[in-house]
Amino acid sequence: MDIQNTIQKIREELNLHNHNYYVLDTPTISDFEFDLKLKQLQDLENKYPEYFDENSPSQRVGGTITKNFQTVAHEHRMYSLDNSYSKEELMDWEKRIQKVLGDVPLEYTCELKYDGASISITYENGKLKRAVTRGDGFQGDDVTNNIKTIKSIPLKLKGNFPDKFDVRGEIILPFAGFEKMNQDLIEIGELPYSNPRNTASGSLKLQDSAEVAKRPLDCLLYFLIGNNLPFKSQFEGLETARNWGFKVPKEAKLANNLAEVFEFIDYWDIHRHDLPYETDGVVVKVNSFHFQDELGFTAKSPRWAIAYKFKSEQVSTRLNSISYQVGRTGSITPVANLEPVQLAGTIVKRASLHNADQIEKLDIRVGDTVFVEKGGEIIPKIIAVDLSKRPENTEPTKYITHCPECNTALVRTEGEANHYCPNFYGCPPQIIGRIQHYISRKAMDIEGLGGETVALLFNNGLVHNYADLYELTVDQILPLERMAQKSAENLVKGVENSKNIPFERVLFAIGIRYVGETVAKKLAKHYKSIDALRQATLMDLILVDEIGERIAQSVIDFFENQENRIIIDRLKSFGVQFEIVEHINPNATDKLSGKTFVVSGVFEKFSRDDLKKAIEDNGGKVGSSISAKTDYVVAGDNMGPAKLDKATKLNIPIISEDDFMNLINEG
Ligand code: AMP
Ligand code: ZN
Repeated sequence: MDIQNTIQKIREELNLHNHNYYVLDTPTISDFEFDLKLKQLQDLENKYPEYFDENSPSQRVGGTITKNFQTVAHEHRMYSLDNSYSKEELMDWEKRIQKVLGDVPLEYTCELKYDGASISITYENGKLKRAVTRGDGFQGDDVTNNIKTIKSIPLKLKGNFPDKFDVRGEIILPFAGFEKMNQDLIEIGELPYSNPRNTASGSLKLQDSAEVAKRPLDCLLYFLIGNNLPFKSQFEGLETARNWGFKVPKEAKLANNLAEVFEFIDYWDIHRHDLPYETDGVVVKVNSFHFQDELGFTAKSPRWAIAYKFKSEQVSTRLNSISYQVGRTGSITPVANLEPVQLAGTIVKRASLHNADQIEKLDIRVGDTVFVEKGGEIIPKIIAVDLSKRPENTEPTKYITHCPECNTALVRTEGEANHYCPNFYGCPPQIIGRIQHYISRKAMDIEGLGGETVALLFNNGLVHNYADLYELTVDQILPLERMAQKSAENLVKGVENSKNIPFERVLFAIGIRYVGETVAKKLAKHYKSIDALRQATLMDLILVDEIGERIAQSVIDFFENQENRIIIDRLKSFGVQFEIVEHINPNATDKLSGKTFVVSGVFEKFSRDDLKKAIEDNGGKVGSSISAKTDYVVAGDNMGPAKLDKATKLNIPIISEDDFMNLINEG
């Protein structure tokens, strides 16, 4: 077979797997095999650039940089939707429609209103041509390169599609992905994002499409527009779009009258909390295109569609004061201290104000009565000030200019939302935070020492940095509040034991900005010792797989600081691990390398722990639950029925302990 055909075949295969995984949610290949195929395609495309295709699945990894997004006019205007908040309003809406159409029976399509950023994507001859943000409805930004990285958006269509049309959809960030992103941020000491919607819409305007590719974005489709569309109603349109390869949520329903619309609303008002993404209402659309044409548009929105907004629980209360918190990396978060009030089953006393811009936007002042709402996030937010209740003689809130903890003048970097305190080595919460990070479970895991004790040690002048921990004596600690002989001894012992913690975790523990657990592992594996890492230049670092400029620069900055170098040297002199110690296991092989196993049930020849160890000793990974990433399930007696079911559904081979023995003894 000639090369061009081979390339074409792999592309089609990858498109199909993407569709199965991201649109249908039923993976048909392991991640490992997918990556292999993708690699194969990339190699071929590199070797034969004449067969380049801008819609090849290899383009989904991103990598193009857009400095300025081009403004593009929408061929079909992107309208807003009118909102309604009650069933009465919907009945009024129907009456207005019947005034135009007469007393005809009306069908409605009911869809959920996905809360994200809207996008318009043009397809020509079945290929994704261009993606544009909504902008002002008449024109938006061309974000094609970023959009192509979203795996649920087809780059090529299947079936019988018109030559040219636009699709409209919502770019969203499902809760799970959003939380994962935030965990990663917290881990490297950064501030988490405040909500999925803003994060999704911010993602569309990132300059580096490779960054967008890493975000677990999704696109839910709700509308098609163009000439000669092969269907006559909204509902048919959704079904057709699904057949062409788009992700159209199956919750959409055809209602034969307003009563059925109300049923849909009542159902989803409760069950929307079970959905994996955020919704803020229902969109009701007159189903027939013929009727839609007759109804037309107002200046801003179609007359044939209306949004019904779910009520989010809201209360009003008084803002007593604003305080400012200093995080481990020095970033400042303003916090609203509220008169305690009951909201959605909990008592709310505080709400995040995010940053200076937010305070200015709300024009929020101490003494104001404010509306507090609980959305998808855990921390409630202040959505508005009740100006009618504003006391006289209040002044606009002045954001602090100096650190509340160390009085250093605050800095705000261009393009960043938050102020921060630059007094890295002298600002108490930053010092304490760094030591707390150092001792934390995923870092040095120092038993017998907790976050509060760290603060106590610092406040009593016993430690100023994490190296000081190693010089603490029982006699020094004993006089501290609530410190008994036994706990003092445990603390010292815990610190001593941390000298066995492997290098990769030490590297995470010392808290270099942007160096989280995963990055620390990569760097440790690559450089093998702190001395080698210290000597690396910016260029060296960037060349390490998956290390970008931001991380590289942060590593350089860390070691350029004399104070850091002294601390590291002291840690070294105490015997903390600053090199990789290779563990040599006589039975070790790499036969299972790249494969993930899930172990389930009771075994005869092995204990479960032995089995897991055997997997790891032979280069495999042990997964905790069955997912698309699992390559094999090793099943003993009494394997759980849920697991069995899942493995069968995902087509994952289930092997016995004998099969497993054969696997590792083979060859
Ligand atoms: P608004 O921004 O309040 O004017 O609401 C209109 C926006 O709702 C549209 O621009 C879409 O981005 C969004 N939307 C979310 N789900 C749907 C849906 N099922 N149908 C139409 N629009 C939707
Ligand atoms: Zn400070």
